Amino acid sequence: MKTMYLDLSLPRLALTRALGRISRAAYFAPTAPLHLADLPDPPLPARDWVRVRNRMCGICGSDLHQIFVDAGLDVAPVALPSHQRIYLGHEMVGDVVEVGDAVRDLRVGDRVVRWGRADDCRARGRAELCPACARGHRVLCEFASEPRAHHPIGGGFGDSFITPASTLLRVPDALSDAQATLVEPAAVAIHAAMRRPAQPGERVLVLGVGVIGFLLIQAIRALQPACEITALTQFDWQAERARQYGAQHTFLARDDGFAETARLTGARLYEKRGNRMLLGGWDVVFDVVGIEATLNNALRWARAGGTVVLVGVNLRRMKLDVTPVWYQEVNLIGAVGSDVVTWNGESLSTFELAMRWMQEGRIDSAGLVTHRFPLDEYRRAFLVAADKRRYRSVKVAFELGDDKAAA
Ligand SMILES: [Zn+2]
Ligand SMILES: [Zn+2]
Repeated sequence: MKTMYLDLSLPRLALTRALGRISRAAYFAPTAPLHLADLPDPPLPARDWVRVRNRMCGICGSDLHQIFVDAGLDVAPVALPSHQRIYLGHEMVGDVVEVGDAVRDLRVGDRVVRWGRADDCRARGRAELCPACARGHRVLCEFASEPRAHHPIGGGFGDSFITPASTLLRVPDALSDAQATLVEPAAVAIHAAMRRPAQPGERVLVLGVGVIGFLLIQAIRALQPACEITALTQFDWQAERARQYGAQHTFLARDDGFAETARLTGARLYEKRGNRMLLGGWDVVFDVVGIEATLNNALRWARAGGTVVLVGVNLRRMKLDVTPVWYQEVNLIGAVGSDVVTWNGESLSTFELAMRWMQEGRIDSAGLVTHRFPLDEYRRAFLVAADKRRYRSVKVAFELGDDKAAA
């Protein structure tokens, strides 16, 4: 199998981070963690495993953080036992090509996306599920870092991979491959929107509009048609799209966010020696960027008793002023992965809800995949995904599979 992985040995990470400051070529050099390799096709290691041949796979912001070694070694997740090798590509759609004889829910020929991790309670076949797995928020599994018998091999950035069947979900025929690769980010966005559902008449700020931001605007709108959504964007073209997807107001990162918040929410702005604070502000802020500057702003722009939902992925320590948390009782909560939610009285995964909303047109995913590359052009694909200013990229995806290679 042809597959892309990261070799996370410390010397490689340290060297690549140092050289990367001089040239981006360092991230693609033989000394870098990133590898595209031809490996022997592994046999299925257990009866409940399957083999999937990829059709398409989106590039996620979290992939880029890892490829460009954008992480501190003093943040919490680093304390977990890590695997030396991480296979890249989770926003995949592919075809099941082989099933173990204990697999019940999937058949050869099924088109699937990946929705669970290969190390959670279900994938391990644990009879008793941990609380997170039991309620369907499998990314928070308590047993995820325990040793396991078999490791998945391969990921979405490659031609195929093997994984426990419980990590896969069938895709309806009505969804295109491009839509299917957006199901994972849409499921993440719906989960985030449901962490603090907007109420009628509330003012909501979506801070940052990559693909998650655009999907989040639509998810918030689908959950609450009667709220007011403002999007903070980096570029004019993103503001235009944010309005298409349902934001009533937009302002730009280079604008004065304190003044814009005061204007759009009626908050009062106070200033002393360059230190600024608002009384009043947004009912909910979704920080989809999640860096020091945006999170500090989000905490100050939320009204007393309002909520900041941290959606953006950042593997660095930050210096935060958390006085809004006690002085204004601003709630700071996080959102990660997908979970199981109740929608119209029905309990279902945000993956299933994402697929349904795409089919119903509540989530418009047309045009979100802006660039497609064959796997061999991965350097260019990653650079295009990382440089939104230059390429106006939203979701960059690899086109995989034999038919694409032959075409
Ligand atoms: Zn992702
Ligand atoms: Zn679990």
